[in-house]
Amino acid sequence: MMYIHIPFCKQKCSYCNFHFSTSLHFKDEMLTAMKKEIFLRKDELQDKKLQSLYFGGGTPSILSSDEIKSLIDEVLKYFSFEKDIEITLEANPDDLDKSFLKGLSNSPVNRLSIGTQSFFEEDLKLMNRAHTASEAEGSIKRAQDFGFENLSIDLIYGSPTSNLEIWKENLNKTIALEVPHISSYALTVEPKTALENWISKGKVISPKEEEQNKEFYYLSDFLKDNGFEHYEISNFAKPGFYSRHNSSYWKYKEYLGIGPSAHSYNGFDIRSWNVANNQQYIKKLNSNLLAKEEEVLSLEDQFNEMIMIGLRTIWGVDLENLNEKFNHKILEHFQHEIKSKLEQEILIIENNHLKIPEKHWFMADGIASDLFFV
Ligand code: SF4
Repeated sequence: MMYIHIPFCKQKCSYCNFHFSTSLHFKDEMLTAMKKEIFLRKDELQDKKLQSLYFGGGTPSILSSDEIKSLIDEVLKYFSFEKDIEITLEANPDDLDKSFLKGLSNSPVNRLSIGTQSFFEEDLKLMNRAHTASEAEGSIKRAQDFGFENLSIDLIYGSPTSNLEIWKENLNKTIALEVPHISSYALTVEPKTALENWISKGKVISPKEEEQNKEFYYLSDFLKDNGFEHYEISNFAKPGFYSRHNSSYWKYKEYLGIGPSAHSYNGFDIRSWNVANNQQYIKKLNSNLLAKEEEVLSLEDQFNEMIMIGLRTIWGVDLENLNEKFNHKILEHFQHEIKSKLEQEILIIENNHLKIPEKHWFMADGIASDLFFV
């Protein structure tokens, strides 16, 4: 699978600490550099037949449909696509006008992940999103009119501008729009964001964990009652609509990340990441050099990662795999750490997979970190 990071956004959302630039000044140079990177790394993936291609960001929909197509064509020069490849484009509602969607519907892109976040103006204003509540709704309907059935939307819960009643309304609107996949995250206060600054100055109150907890469990129950499967802490899908790309991440498959700040993984012990700086990235690629650094993951790192990722999913951690992969010292530590959690039923074993029962998913990161080998 391949990930392509488009490092541009129209404006900075108040909660975001991803890598992007709000200046499109070097967009053409960036696209040229990314195509160069695709060429230079053409031998890195063992499996040349891609099952998924994912445009994330930043804001991929800031590009024209022709620019997106030209990137896909470049990938196709060096890799082939599985017949039913999933090609996802992250898109912001304000970009999904008729002419963009028309162009996109004539491209190989077959899945959209729309950054809706909320259908309420107050939430969107606090988040400093570039779209309005009516655009949030209109963009989904328009995408469906242009034949995009495999749609995901992002929703953020636990904003200080929201409450359980507003959250319920958000979810009712989502169900009415018949979207088959939802990714939903708690609003978190990241360092060096506008949101953090406003909270520190007392202009905005902090999101409340108790409220977020309530909204998370309402979300989970409500979506399951409406035919969704809760397959990862933050992800819900109707049958047949799991994100193939993200599911592969969660199953530790290899992936290649193109573009500034993109990460790659060889499916075993090497992780690499590109420089999170547009100018430095372009300069390197202009000189036919890769702009990446890499680390070799120790066995302990691999163990911690497997626990962290697996316990966030419906599949859990495959104990047979774990026993094959890790040494006696790590496995002894693991058995010791899970013992009391199994007794308390914070962890369970089903079909030789270690899982967190769904009622404890909100605490999954804390439970996983208790098992880490440090
Ligand atoms: S559009 Fe996405 S990447 Fe860009 S600032 Fe907003 S949240 Fe961050």
